Amino acid sequence: MILTNSYLSLGDEFYQQIEPTPVAAPNLLLWNHELADQLAIDPALQQDRVALSQYFSGNRLFPDSTPVALAYAGHQFGQFNPRLGDGRAHLLGELTDRTNHRFDIQLKGSGPTRFSRSGDGRCAMGPAVREFIMSEAMHALGIPTARSLAVVTTGEMVFREEMRPGAVVTRIAASHLRVGTFEYFASQGNLDAVERLCGYAVERHYPELKQETGEGFYTAFLQAVCRKQIELICHWLRVGFIHGVMNTDNTSISGETIDYGPCAMMSSYNPDAMFSSIDHSGRYRFIQQPQICQWNMARLAESLLPLIHEDSKTAVSIAEELLKEMANEFHQQYFAMLGKKIGLTETKPADETLINDLLKHLRLNKLDYTQTFHRLTESLHSSEIDTQISTDLGDWYPRWKIRLDEQGENKETVYQQMRSQNPVVIPRNHHMEAVIRSCIETGSADDAEAFLAVLKSPYRETATTAQYQDAPADNDRDYQTFCGT
Ligand code: AMP
Ligand code: MG
Repeated sequence: MILTNSYLSLGDEFYQQIEPTPVAAPNLLLWNHELADQLAIDPALQQDRVALSQYFSGNRLFPDSTPVALAYAGHQFGQFNPRLGDGRAHLLGELTDRTNHRFDIQLKGSGPTRFSRSGDGRCAMGPAVREFIMSEAMHALGIPTARSLAVVTTGEMVFREEMRPGAVVTRIAASHLRVGTFEYFASQGNLDAVERLCGYAVERHYPELKQETGEGFYTAFLQAVCRKQIELICHWLRVGFIHGVMNTDNTSISGETIDYGPCAMMSSYNPDAMFSSIDHSGRYRFIQQPQICQWNMARLAESLLPLIHEDSKTAVSIAEELLKEMANEFHQQYFAMLGKKIGLTETKPADETLINDLLKHLRLNKLDYTQTFHRLTESLHSSEIDTQISTDLGDWYPRWKIRLDEQGENKETVYQQMRSQNPVVIPRNHHMEAVIRSCIETGSADDAEAFLAVLKSPYRETATTAQYQDAPADNDRDYQTFCGT
Protein backbone atom coordinates (compact mmCIF):
# COMPACT_ATOMS: atom_id res chain seq x y z
CA MET A 1 0.00 0.00 0.00
CA ILE A 2 1.56 3.30 -1.10
CA LEU A 3 0.52 6.34 0.90
CA THR A 4 1.12 9.93 -0.07
CA ASN A 5 0.07 13.05 1.79
CA SER A 6 -0.51 16.08 -0.39
CA TYR A 7 -2.18 17.88 2.53
CA LEU A 8 1.24 18.38 4.11
CA SER A 9 2.20 20.69 1.25
CA LEU A 10 -0.46 23.21 2.31
CA GLY A 11 1.61 24.37 5.27
CA ASP A 12 1.78 23.46 8.92
CA GLU A 13 -1.02 25.80 10.02
CA PHE A 14 -3.37 23.32 8.32
CA TYR A 15 -2.75 20.38 10.65
CA GLN A 16 -0.95 18.94 13.61
CA GLN A 17 1.48 16.13 12.91
CA ILE A 18 0.62 13.51 15.51
CA GLU A 19 0.54 9.75 15.77
CA PRO A 20 -2.42 7.67 16.93
CA THR A 21 -2.38 6.49 20.55
CA PRO A 22 -2.05 2.67 20.64
CA VAL A 23 -4.94 0.63 22.04
CA ALA A 24 -4.84 -2.35 24.43
CA ALA A 25 -6.20 -5.27 22.43
CA PRO A 26 -7.15 -4.48 18.82
CA ASN A 27 -9.46 -6.96 17.15
CA LEU A 28 -10.82 -6.67 13.61
CA LEU A 29 -14.63 -6.68 13.68
CA LEU A 30 -15.59 -5.48 10.19
CA TRP A 31 -13.53 -5.45 7.02
CA ASN A 32 -14.74 -4.10 3.67
CA HIS A 33 -13.27 -6.57 1.14
CA GLU A 34 -14.82 -4.93 -1.90
CA LEU A 35 -13.47 -1.49 -0.99
CA ALA A 36 -10.08 -2.93 -0.04
CA ASP A 37 -9.84 -4.56 -3.47
CA GLN A 38 -10.81 -1.31 -5.17
CA LEU A 39 -8.06 0.44 -3.22
CA ALA A 40 -5.60 -2.29 -4.28
CA ILE A 41 -4.74 -3.20 -0.69
CA ASP A 42 -2.28 -6.08 -0.73
CA PRO A 43 -4.21 -9.42 -0.81
CA ALA A 44 -1.67 -10.98 1.57
CA LEU A 45 -2.29 -8.23 4.12
CA GLN A 46 -6.05 -8.71 3.69
CA GLN A 47 -5.67 -12.36 4.76
CA ASP A 48 -3.83 -11.39 7.93
CA ARG A 49 -6.46 -10.32 10.48
CA VAL A 50 -3.88 -9.69 13.17
CA ALA A 51 -1.92 -7.29 10.97
CA LEU A 52 -5.15 -5.56 9.85
CA SER A 53 -6.13 -5.10 13.50
CA GLN A 54 -2.76 -3.51 14.18
CA TYR A 55 -2.78 -1.15 11.20
CA PHE A 56 -6.41 -0.11 11.42
CA SER A 57 -6.36 0.63 15.12
CA GLY A 58 -3.33 2.87 14.76
CA ASN A 59 -1.10 0.50 16.76
CA ARG A 60 1.17 0.01 13.78
CA LEU A 61 1.85 2.58 11.06
CA PHE A 62 2.38 1.99 7.34
CA PRO A 63 6.01 2.86 6.58
CA ASP A 64 5.20 5.87 4.38
CA SER A 65 2.42 7.28 6.56
CA THR A 66 2.69 10.72 8.17
CA PRO A 67 -0.40 10.93 10.37
CA VAL A 68 -1.95 14.35 10.84
CA ALA A 69 -4.99 15.81 12.58
CA LEU A 70 -6.64 18.50 10.47
CA ALA A 71 -7.49 21.99 11.67
CA TYR A 72 -10.95 23.36 11.01
CA ALA A 73 -13.64 25.57 12.49
CA GLY A 74 -17.39 25.37 12.03
CA HIS A 75 -20.86 26.61 12.72
CA GLN A 76 -22.51 24.15 15.11
CA PHE A 77 -26.28 24.58 15.34
CA GLY A 78 -25.82 28.10 14.00
CA GLN A 79 -23.06 29.10 16.46
CA PHE A 80 -19.55 29.74 15.20
CA ASN A 81 -16.76 27.79 16.85
CA PRO A 82 -13.39 29.06 15.56
CA ARG A 83 -11.47 26.02 16.74
CA LEU A 84 -12.73 22.50 16.16
CA GLY A 85 -10.41 20.23 14.17
CA ASP A 86 -9.83 16.47 14.27
CA GLY A 87 -10.13 15.81 17.99
CA ARG A 88 -10.22 12.06 17.61
CA ALA A 89 -9.09 11.35 14.06
CA HIS A 90 -5.83 10.83 12.23
CA LEU A 91 -5.40 11.23 8.51
CA LEU A 92 -2.92 8.48 7.64
CA GLY A 93 -2.40 9.65 4.08
CA GLU A 94 -3.86 9.28 0.60
CA LEU A 95 -4.34 6.21 -1.53
CA THR A 96 -4.87 5.98 -5.27
CA ASP A 97 -7.40 3.33 -6.30
CA ARG A 98 -7.49 1.08 -9.36
CA THR A 99 -9.26 3.74 -11.42
CA ASN A 100 -6.69 6.38 -10.47
CA HIS A 101 -8.92 8.26 -8.02
CA ARG A 102 -7.27 9.62 -4.90
CA PHE A 103 -8.78 9.04 -1.43
CA ASP A 104 -8.00 10.07 2.12
CA ILE A 105 -7.58 7.24 4.57
CA GLN A 106 -8.43 8.32 8.10
CA LEU A 107 -8.72 6.62 11.48
CA LYS A 108 -11.49 7.86 13.78
CA GLY A 109 -11.32 7.14 17.51
CA SER A 110 -7.55 6.81 17.35
CA GLY A 111 -6.59 9.04 20.26
CA PRO A 112 -6.40 12.67 21.33
CA THR A 113 -4.85 15.51 19.35
CA ARG A 114 -4.30 19.22 19.83
CA PHE A 115 -7.94 19.65 18.79
CA SER A 116 -9.53 17.30 21.34
CA ARG A 117 -10.67 20.05 23.73
CA SER A 118 -12.35 18.11 26.57
CA GLY A 119 -12.88 14.93 24.51
CA ASP A 120 -11.05 11.64 25.05
CA GLY A 121 -10.10 11.15 21.40
CA ARG A 122 -11.98 7.85 21.31
CA CYS A 123 -15.05 6.37 19.66
CA ALA A 124 -17.53 3.86 21.06
CA MET A 125 -18.17 0.63 19.20
CA GLY A 126 -21.86 1.36 18.53
CA PRO A 127 -21.29 4.57 16.52
CA ALA A 128 -18.35 2.94 14.68
CA VAL A 129 -20.51 0.01 13.52
CA ARG A 130 -23.31 2.43 12.66
CA GLU A 131 -20.99 4.56 10.52
CA PHE A 132 -19.69 1.47 8.71
CA ILE A 133 -23.16 0.13 7.87
CA MET A 134 -24.79 3.48 7.09
CA SER A 135 -22.03 4.66 4.80
CA GLU A 136 -21.92 1.38 2.91
CA ALA A 137 -25.72 1.44 2.56
CA MET A 138 -25.61 5.00 1.23
CA HIS A 139 -22.89 4.07 -1.23
CA ALA A 140 -24.97 1.15 -2.50
CA LEU A 141 -27.97 3.50 -2.86
CA GLY A 142 -25.84 5.51 -5.30
CA ILE A 143 -25.37 8.46 -2.94
CA PRO A 144 -22.03 10.26 -2.71
CA THR A 145 -20.51 9.34 0.64
CA ALA A 146 -17.35 8.73 2.59
CA ARG A 147 -16.98 4.97 2.99
CA SER A 148 -15.74 2.62 5.68
CA LEU A 149 -12.90 0.19 5.31
CA ALA A 150 -12.69 -1.31 8.80
CA VAL A 151 -13.93 -1.36 12.35
CA VAL A 152 -11.43 -2.58 14.93
CA THR A 153 -12.50 -2.99 18.54
CA THR A 154 -9.91 -1.69 20.98
CA GLY A 155 -10.31 -3.87 24.09
CA GLU A 156 -10.68 -0.60 25.99
CA MET A 157 -13.78 1.00 27.43
CA VAL A 158 -14.91 4.56 26.83
CA PHE A 159 -17.25 6.54 29.02
CA ARG A 160 -20.43 7.74 27.27
CA GLU A 161 -23.11 8.12 29.97
CA GLU A 162 -21.84 4.69 30.97
CA MET A 163 -18.83 2.51 30.17
CA ARG A 164 -18.97 1.18 26.61
CA PRO A 165 -16.57 -0.85 24.47
CA GLY A 166 -14.39 1.29 22.21
CA ALA A 167 -13.52 0.95 18.51
CA VAL A 168 -11.62 2.65 15.72
CA VAL A 169 -13.33 3.11 12.35
CA THR A 170 -11.35 3.64 9.14
CA ARG A 171 -12.91 6.17 6.82
CA ILE A 172 -12.17 6.50 3.10
CA ALA A 173 -13.20 9.86 1.64
CA ALA A 174 -12.54 11.88 -1.52
CA SER A 175 -11.03 14.32 0.98
CA HIS A 176 -11.75 15.75 4.41
CA LEU A 177 -12.02 19.36 3.28
CA ARG A 178 -15.06 20.94 4.87
CA VAL A 179 -16.79 24.29 4.77
CA GLY A 180 -15.33 24.63 8.28
CA THR A 181 -11.78 24.35 6.91
CA PHE A 182 -12.37 27.53 4.91
CA GLU A 183 -14.02 29.24 7.88
CA TYR A 184 -11.03 28.40 10.06
CA PHE A 185 -8.64 30.48 7.98
CA ALA A 186 -11.14 33.14 6.90
CA SER A 187 -12.02 33.87 10.55
CA GLN A 188 -8.32 34.42 11.27
CA GLY A 189 -8.08 36.82 8.33
CA ASN A 190 -5.58 34.47 6.68
CA LEU A 191 -6.61 35.11 3.11
CA ASP A 192 -3.47 33.58 1.75
CA ALA A 193 -4.38 30.25 3.34
CA VAL A 194 -7.96 30.45 2.01
CA GLU A 195 -6.52 31.02 -1.45
CA ARG A 196 -4.20 28.02 -1.14
CA LEU A 197 -7.07 25.92 0.11
CA CYS A 198 -9.22 26.87 -2.89
CA GLY A 199 -6.41 25.92 -5.26
CA TYR A 200 -5.99 22.59 -3.48
CA ALA A 201 -9.75 21.86 -3.45
CA VAL A 202 -10.09 22.63 -7.16
CA GLU A 203 -7.09 20.45 -7.97
CA ARG A 204 -8.64 17.54 -6.07
CA HIS A 205 -12.35 17.88 -6.74
CA TYR A 206 -13.03 20.37 -9.51
CA PRO A 207 -10.08 20.12 -11.94
CA GLU A 208 -12.34 21.36 -14.76
CA LEU A 209 -12.22 24.83 -13.13
CA LYS A 210 -8.46 25.13 -13.35
CA GLN A 211 -8.63 27.20 -16.53
CA GLU A 212 -10.79 29.86 -14.81
CA THR A 213 -8.66 32.88 -14.02
CA GLY A 214 -8.83 35.88 -11.70
CA GLU A 215 -11.81 36.47 -9.45
CA GLY A 216 -14.07 34.33 -11.65
CA PHE A 217 -12.19 31.33 -10.31
CA TYR A 218 -13.63 31.72 -6.80
CA THR A 219 -17.17 32.33 -8.00
CA ALA A 220 -16.92 29.25 -10.22
CA PHE A 221 -15.60 27.25 -7.28
CA LEU A 222 -18.43 28.36 -4.99
CA GLN A 223 -20.98 27.54 -7.67
CA ALA A 224 -19.47 24.09 -8.25
CA VAL A 225 -19.61 23.26 -4.52
CA CYS A 226 -23.23 24.49 -4.34
CA ARG A 227 -24.21 22.26 -7.26
CA LYS A 228 -22.65 19.20 -5.65
CA GLN A 229 -24.50 19.96 -2.43
CA ILE A 230 -27.86 20.28 -4.21
CA GLU A 231 -27.27 16.94 -5.87
CA LEU A 232 -26.41 15.39 -2.52
CA ILE A 233 -29.40 16.76 -0.62
CA CYS A 234 -31.79 15.65 -3.39
CA HIS A 235 -30.41 12.13 -2.93
CA TRP A 236 -30.97 12.33 0.83
CA LEU A 237 -34.57 13.41 0.29
CA ARG A 238 -35.04 10.69 -2.30
CA VAL A 239 -34.32 7.89 0.18
CA GLY A 240 -35.56 9.53 3.40
CA PHE A 241 -32.16 10.17 4.97
CA ILE A 242 -31.87 12.63 7.85
CA HIS A 243 -28.28 13.61 8.52
CA GLY A 244 -29.02 15.03 11.95
CA VAL A 245 -25.98 17.26 12.41
CA MET A 246 -25.49 19.38 9.30
CA ASN A 247 -22.97 21.69 10.91
CA THR A 248 -20.54 23.39 8.53
CA ASP A 249 -17.69 21.23 9.85
CA ASN A 250 -19.69 18.23 8.66
CA THR A 251 -20.27 19.62 5.16
CA SER A 252 -17.77 18.19 2.73
CA ILE A 253 -16.40 20.32 -0.11
CA SER A 254 -16.36 17.27 -2.39
CA GLY A 255 -20.13 16.83 -1.96
CA GLU A 256 -19.96 13.55 -0.07
CA THR A 257 -22.03 12.60 2.96
CA ILE A 258 -19.72 12.68 5.97
CA ASP A 259 -20.17 12.23 9.69
CA TYR A 260 -22.80 9.63 10.45
CA GLY A 261 -23.18 10.49 14.14
CA PRO A 262 -26.91 11.00 14.82
CA CYS A 263 -28.32 10.23 11.35
CA ALA A 264 -31.54 8.26 10.84
CA MET A 265 -33.93 7.05 8.15
CA MET A 266 -37.50 8.29 7.89
CA SER A 267 -40.16 5.59 7.98
CA SER A 268 -43.67 7.08 7.59
CA TYR A 269 -43.53 10.29 5.61
CA ASN A 270 -43.19 13.28 7.88
CA PRO A 271 -41.41 16.42 6.71
CA ASP A 272 -40.69 17.28 10.36
CA ALA A 273 -39.06 13.93 11.11
CA MET A 274 -35.98 14.23 13.31
CA PHE A 275 -34.39 11.90 15.82
CA SER A 276 -31.26 13.57 17.16
CA SER A 277 -31.28 13.96 20.94
CA ILE A 278 -29.31 17.19 20.74
CA ASP A 279 -31.33 18.92 18.01
CA HIS A 280 -33.77 20.60 20.36
CA SER A 281 -35.13 23.14 17.89
CA GLY A 282 -35.48 20.71 14.98
CA ARG A 283 -32.97 22.74 13.00
CA TYR A 284 -31.90 19.64 11.07
CA ARG A 285 -35.28 17.98 10.52
CA PHE A 286 -35.96 16.15 7.25
CA ILE A 287 -37.48 18.90 5.11
CA GLN A 288 -35.25 21.62 6.52
CA GLN A 289 -32.13 20.03 5.00
CA PRO A 290 -32.17 22.03 1.73
CA GLN A 291 -32.47 25.34 3.62
CA ILE A 292 -29.65 24.36 5.95
CA CYS A 293 -27.53 23.33 3.01
CA GLN A 294 -28.07 26.77 1.53
CA TRP A 295 -27.24 28.38 4.88
CA ASN A 296 -24.01 26.38 4.99
CA MET A 297 -23.15 27.46 1.46
CA ALA A 298 -23.68 31.07 2.57
CA ARG A 299 -21.01 30.47 5.25
CA LEU A 300 -18.64 29.16 2.57
CA ALA A 301 -19.46 32.19 0.42
CA GLU A 302 -18.65 34.49 3.36
CA SER A 303 -15.26 32.87 3.75
CA LEU A 304 -14.52 33.49 0.08
CA LEU A 305 -15.89 37.07 -0.19
CA PRO A 306 -12.55 38.94 -0.32
CA LEU A 307 -11.46 36.61 -3.11
CA ILE A 308 -14.73 36.83 -5.05
CA HIS A 309 -14.28 40.56 -5.55
CA GLU A 310 -11.96 43.17 -4.09
CA ASP A 311 -14.91 45.51 -3.54
CA SER A 312 -16.86 44.00 -0.65
CA LYS A 313 -20.28 45.25 -1.81
CA THR A 314 -19.79 43.77 -5.27
CA ALA A 315 -18.57 40.52 -3.71
CA VAL A 316 -21.71 40.30 -1.54
CA SER A 317 -24.03 40.92 -4.47
CA ILE A 318 -22.27 38.27 -6.59
CA ALA A 319 -22.56 35.74 -3.76
CA GLU A 320 -26.19 36.61 -3.06
CA GLU A 321 -27.11 36.21 -6.70
CA LEU A 322 -25.42 32.84 -6.78
CA LEU A 323 -27.17 31.60 -3.66
CA LYS A 324 -30.53 32.75 -5.03
CA GLU A 325 -29.81 30.76 -8.18
CA MET A 326 -28.98 27.83 -5.96
CA ALA A 327 -32.46 27.94 -4.43
CA ASN A 328 -34.02 27.88 -7.91
CA GLU A 329 -31.80 25.06 -9.02
CA PHE A 330 -32.69 23.07 -5.94
CA HIS A 331 -36.41 23.61 -6.52
CA GLN A 332 -36.11 22.23 -10.06
CA GLN A 333 -33.97 19.26 -9.11
CA TYR A 334 -36.15 18.40 -6.15
CA PHE A 335 -39.28 18.10 -8.27
CA ALA A 336 -37.39 16.34 -11.05
CA MET A 337 -36.21 13.81 -8.45
CA LEU A 338 -39.72 13.24 -7.08
CA GLY A 339 -41.05 13.16 -10.63
CA LYS A 340 -38.65 10.33 -11.41
CA LYS A 341 -39.80 8.50 -8.30
CA ILE A 342 -43.34 8.44 -9.73
CA GLY A 343 -42.16 7.51 -13.23
CA LEU A 344 -42.15 10.88 -15.00
CA THR A 345 -39.40 11.18 -17.57
CA GLU A 346 -39.89 14.93 -17.66
CA THR A 347 -41.38 16.99 -14.84
CA LYS A 348 -43.50 19.98 -15.87
CA PRO A 349 -44.48 22.83 -13.50
CA ALA A 350 -48.02 21.43 -13.33
CA ASP A 351 -46.64 18.18 -11.94
CA GLU A 352 -45.60 19.94 -8.74
CA THR A 353 -49.22 19.84 -7.57
CA LEU A 354 -49.46 16.14 -8.32
CA ILE A 355 -46.24 15.50 -6.38
CA ASN A 356 -47.18 17.71 -3.43
CA ASP A 357 -50.61 16.08 -3.22
CA LEU A 358 -49.00 12.66 -2.98
CA LEU A 359 -46.70 13.82 -0.17
CA LYS A 360 -49.67 15.41 1.62
CA HIS A 361 -51.54 12.12 1.37
CA LEU A 362 -48.56 10.15 2.69
CA ARG A 363 -48.26 12.51 5.60
CA LEU A 364 -51.93 12.55 6.54
CA ASN A 365 -52.18 8.77 6.35
CA LYS A 366 -48.78 8.15 7.92
CA LEU A 367 -47.74 5.94 5.02
CA ASP A 368 -44.26 4.52 4.94
CA TYR A 369 -42.10 6.49 2.49
CA THR A 370 -39.94 3.64 1.20
CA GLN A 371 -42.68 1.02 1.08
CA THR A 372 -45.11 3.30 -0.74
CA PHE A 373 -42.73 4.19 -3.56
CA HIS A 374 -41.60 0.57 -3.77
CA ARG A 375 -45.18 -0.65 -4.09
CA LEU A 376 -46.05 2.10 -6.54
CA THR A 377 -43.17 0.83 -8.68
CA GLU A 378 -44.22 -2.79 -8.40
CA SER A 379 -47.87 -1.93 -9.15
CA LEU A 380 -46.77 -1.58 -12.78
CA HIS A 381 -45.92 -5.29 -12.80
CA SER A 382 -48.48 -6.78 -10.43
CA SER A 383 -52.25 -6.36 -10.55
CA GLU A 384 -52.53 -7.45 -6.91
CA ILE A 385 -50.23 -4.64 -5.70
CA ASP A 386 -51.97 -2.31 -8.13
CA THR A 387 -55.31 -2.94 -6.40
CA GLN A 388 -53.84 -2.48 -2.91
CA ILE A 389 -52.02 0.74 -3.67
CA SER A 390 -54.97 2.26 -5.49
CA THR A 391 -56.93 1.81 -2.24
CA ASP A 392 -54.10 3.28 -0.13
CA LEU A 393 -53.63 6.31 -2.33
CA GLY A 394 -57.31 7.09 -2.97
CA ASP A 395 -58.04 9.89 -5.45
CA TRP A 396 -54.42 10.49 -6.17
CA TYR A 397 -53.98 7.12 -7.83
CA PRO A 398 -56.18 7.67 -10.94
CA ARG A 399 -54.63 11.12 -11.41
CA TRP A 400 -51.21 9.48 -11.48
CA LYS A 401 -52.38 6.87 -14.00
CA ILE A 402 -53.79 9.59 -16.27
CA ARG A 403 -50.51 11.51 -16.12
CA LEU A 404 -48.53 8.37 -17.00
CA ASP A 405 -50.84 7.66 -19.95
CA GLU A 406 -50.45 11.23 -21.15
CA GLN A 407 -46.68 10.81 -21.05
CA GLY A 408 -47.07 7.86 -23.43
CA GLU A 409 -43.82 6.22 -22.37
CA ASN A 410 -43.31 2.49 -22.64
CA LYS A 411 -44.47 0.82 -19.40
CA GLU A 412 -41.26 -1.15 -18.96
CA THR A 413 -39.13 1.99 -19.36
CA VAL A 414 -41.20 3.72 -16.66
CA TYR A 415 -40.87 0.68 -14.41
CA GLN A 416 -37.09 0.58 -14.84
CA GLN A 417 -36.78 4.28 -14.09
CA MET A 418 -38.89 4.00 -10.94
CA ARG A 419 -37.01 0.91 -9.88
CA SER A 420 -33.70 2.78 -10.14
CA GLN A 421 -34.97 5.61 -7.91
CA ASN A 422 -37.02 3.78 -5.29
CA PRO A 423 -35.15 1.42 -2.98
CA VAL A 424 -36.66 -1.87 -1.87
CA VAL A 425 -34.70 -1.75 1.35
CA ILE A 426 -33.01 0.97 3.42
CA PRO A 427 -31.01 0.77 6.67
CA ARG A 428 -34.05 1.18 8.90
CA ASN A 429 -33.43 2.46 12.41
CA HIS A 430 -34.84 -0.52 14.30
CA HIS A 431 -32.76 -3.01 12.31
CA MET A 432 -29.67 -0.86 12.67
CA GLU A 433 -30.11 -0.74 16.44
CA ALA A 434 -30.70 -4.50 16.70
CA VAL A 435 -27.57 -5.21 14.66
CA ILE A 436 -25.44 -2.83 16.73
CA ARG A 437 -26.72 -4.44 19.92
CA SER A 438 -25.87 -7.86 18.59
CA CYS A 439 -22.30 -6.78 17.70
CA ILE A 440 -21.76 -5.34 21.17
CA GLU A 441 -23.32 -8.22 23.08
CA THR A 442 -21.83 -11.12 21.13
CA GLY A 443 -18.62 -9.57 19.81
CA SER A 444 -19.53 -11.22 16.51
CA ALA A 445 -20.19 -9.34 13.27
CA ASP A 446 -22.50 -12.02 11.82
CA ASP A 447 -25.70 -9.98 12.10
CA ALA A 448 -23.96 -6.90 10.74
CA GLU A 449 -22.66 -8.90 7.76
CA ALA A 450 -26.15 -10.30 7.05
CA PHE A 451 -27.64 -6.78 7.14
CA LEU A 452 -24.85 -5.42 4.92
CA ALA A 453 -25.34 -8.22 2.39
CA VAL A 454 -28.94 -7.07 1.84
CA LEU A 455 -28.12 -3.35 1.89
CA LYS A 456 -25.58 -3.90 -0.90
CA SER A 457 -28.38 -4.39 -3.44
CA PRO A 458 -31.01 -1.93 -2.23
CA TYR A 459 -32.93 -1.80 -5.51
CA ARG A 460 -33.28 -5.55 -5.87
CA GLU A 461 -34.95 -8.15 -3.71
CA THR A 462 -32.70 -10.98 -2.62
CA ALA A 463 -33.55 -14.11 -0.63
CA THR A 464 -33.23 -12.29 2.68
CA THR A 465 -34.39 -8.76 1.77
CA ALA A 466 -37.86 -9.32 3.23
CA GLN A 467 -36.36 -9.62 6.73
CA TYR A 468 -35.43 -5.94 6.63
CA GLN A 469 -38.33 -4.30 4.75
CA ASP A 470 -40.76 -3.93 7.63
CA ALA A 471 -41.63 -0.50 8.96
CA PRO A 472 -41.02 -0.08 12.70
CA ALA A 473 -44.02 -1.11 14.79
CA ASP A 474 -44.18 2.20 16.68
CA ASN A 475 -43.32 4.30 13.62
CA ASP A 476 -40.03 5.20 15.34
CA ARG A 477 -42.06 7.45 17.63
CA ASP A 478 -39.62 7.20 20.54
CA TYR A 479 -36.48 6.66 18.51
CA GLN A 480 -33.53 8.87 19.41
CA THR A 481 -30.01 9.12 17.99
CA PHE A 482 -26.91 10.38 19.72
CA CYS A 483 -23.78 12.03 18.44
CA GLY A 484 -21.70 9.23 19.90
CA THR A 485 -19.04 11.69 20.89
P1 AMP B 1 -18.83 15.85 15.41
O1 AMP B 1 -20.06 16.34 16.07
O2 AMP B 1 -18.60 14.36 15.54
O3 AMP B 1 -18.70 16.31 14.01
O4 AMP B 1 -17.60 16.47 16.22
C1 AMP B 1 -17.48 17.85 16.46
C2 AMP B 1 -16.09 18.15 16.97
O5 AMP B 1 -15.86 17.49 18.22
C3 AMP B 1 -14.95 17.73 16.07
O6 AMP B 1 -13.95 18.69 16.20
C4 AMP B 1 -14.53 16.42 16.65
O7 AMP B 1 -13.17 16.10 16.36
C5 AMP B 1 -14.70 16.68 18.14
N1 AMP B 1 -14.92 15.44 18.89
C6 AMP B 1 -16.02 14.67 18.86
N2 AMP B 1 -15.90 13.62 19.69
C7 AMP B 1 -14.68 13.72 20.28
C8 AMP B 1 -13.97 12.94 21.22
N3 AMP B 1 -14.48 11.83 21.77
N4 AMP B 1 -12.73 13.35 21.59
C9 AMP B 1 -12.21 14.47 21.07
N5 AMP B 1 -12.83 15.25 20.17
C10 AMP B 1 -14.06 14.89 19.78
MG1 MG C 1 -17.63 16.14 12.45
